Amino acid sequence: MVVQKFGGTSVADPDAVRRLIGIARAARARDGCGPVLVVSAMSQVTDALLTSAAEAGASRSESALAHVEPLRERHLAMARALVSDADLGALTSHIEQQFEQLAAIVKALAVLREVSFRTLDVVAAMGELLSSRIIAAALVHAGLPGEWVDARRAIVTNDDHTRACPLMRETTATLRASVLPVVEAGRVPVLGGFVGATVEGHTTTLGRGGSDYSAAIVGAGIDAAEIQIWTDVDGMLTADPRVIPQSRLVPRLSFAEAAELSYFGAKVLHPSTIHPAVERDIPVRILNSRKPDGEGTLITAEPAPGDDQLTAMAAKRDLTVIDITSSRMLMAYGFLRRVFEVFERFRTAVDVVTTSEVSVSVTVDDRRHLEAIVDALSEFAEVSVEPAMALLCAVGDRLRNEPAIAARVLRVLEEVPLRMISQAASRRNITVILRQADLPHAMHRLHEEFFA
Ligand code: ADP
Ligand code: ASP
Ligand code: MG
Repeated sequence: MVVQKFGGTSVADPDAVRRLIGIARAARARDGCGPVLVVSAMSQVTDALLTSAAEAGASRSESALAHVEPLRERHLAMARALVSDADLGALTSHIEQQFEQLAAIVKALAVLREVSFRTLDVVAAMGELLSSRIIAAALVHAGLPGEWVDARRAIVTNDDHTRACPLMRETTATLRASVLPVVEAGRVPVLGGFVGATVEGHTTTLGRGGSDYSAAIVGAGIDAAEIQIWTDVDGMLTADPRVIPQSRLVPRLSFAEAAELSYFGAKVLHPSTIHPAVERDIPVRILNSRKPDGEGTLITAEPAPGDDQLTAMAAKRDLTVIDITSSRMLMAYGFLRRVFEVFERFRTAVDVVTTSEVSVSVTVDDRRHLEAIVDALSEFAEVSVEPAMALLCAVGDRLRNEPAIAARVLRVLEEVPLRMISQAASRRNITVILRQADLPHAMHRLHEEFFA
């Protein structure tokens, strides 16, 4: 049995959901059971919900409500297009009820002028909770035995709201109690992705793009044969197609390569997706929901090596470089500990680190606590901050054994001013930090050299 996850554009409108149903039907015919479906909110819904909450927090309640009103209409229209009269009444009154509740929350936030991460999660989760209900009903209408499963009862997380992590032991138990019986009864479970709840039952979300992660968690929890990520591109491509239109499909990837690519910015997979799959050695396949017959990208532990020297590249924008300099650092042990304690205290992840005798440079993409971090570091070092930086990362298992490839990467980039260069112990990637303005040119150069 397979877990199939459909992203925002793959559930964006009634036609997209009809394609989803066709794909699920084919999997069921092939496997004789399942599939388990994990669905995103319809495209742009999460953005609108978060904007609405932000507007409410700034006390602009009319603007906040104006952002949710079109969502109500869109969900109702979707229900009407996909669900038969017999079931429509119950579904539309559920949708109306949810939007009434949302309006009440938004108004309360506007009065309080404050949005906690916990409330933000309640609002953000609505997109997936609604889409999954509608799609479960749409399956039934199309003759497939869909059954909605509440993701808040299936995925148990810690309380790090807006970027919660699953508690795998608890989650495996809840998944076996909530999803498996539905499959065993011959039905098709439909869960909203991105959403979970704490042990106490407070709604959480897994971070933007987190529905991929939900699918992998579900796949690992029920020991699925495969985790399929259905999206709007043919699979993992050699580069972000929005920057490099001529990027091409990477048919096979190792888990390690996929983890590096998603961590360093290939948006097609949420960075945590691979971990649950690795743990249970479950293949992950990325597929295009508009081209169900495409081969997609198959991600496994040890795929046969391809012909290309590099496998793909990834990039991240809006990074900040922080330079931390101390003349006293010379030979001083404990300095790095002090530096990283600051990042730990403010729960800010560092992506790339380079050091010299007297300085450490790090990159961060979460700027929420930047000012406080700089203040804390300034207590024992000189600190300078450079915004609008980008990271470009070339990934490939062959980098490990063929040192000439890294040299070739740097040679291609010789006219681009590089701020930091890093290759970590895995030696599966070579990463450079450069000015954001130079990124498109650098990506084109690299792509032409390795993938043209
Ligand atoms: P979904 O809504 O299905 O989760 P996302 O928008 O999160 O889809 O991810 C798919 C998008 O990721 C693609 O439309 C593409 O623009 C972007 N992307 C960035 N880098 C890559 C890459 N290397 N390969 C494929 N897609 C990529
Ligand atoms: N809807 C969520 C988001 O937009 C999660 C997802 O689609 O993966 O971030
Ligand atoms: Mg996504």
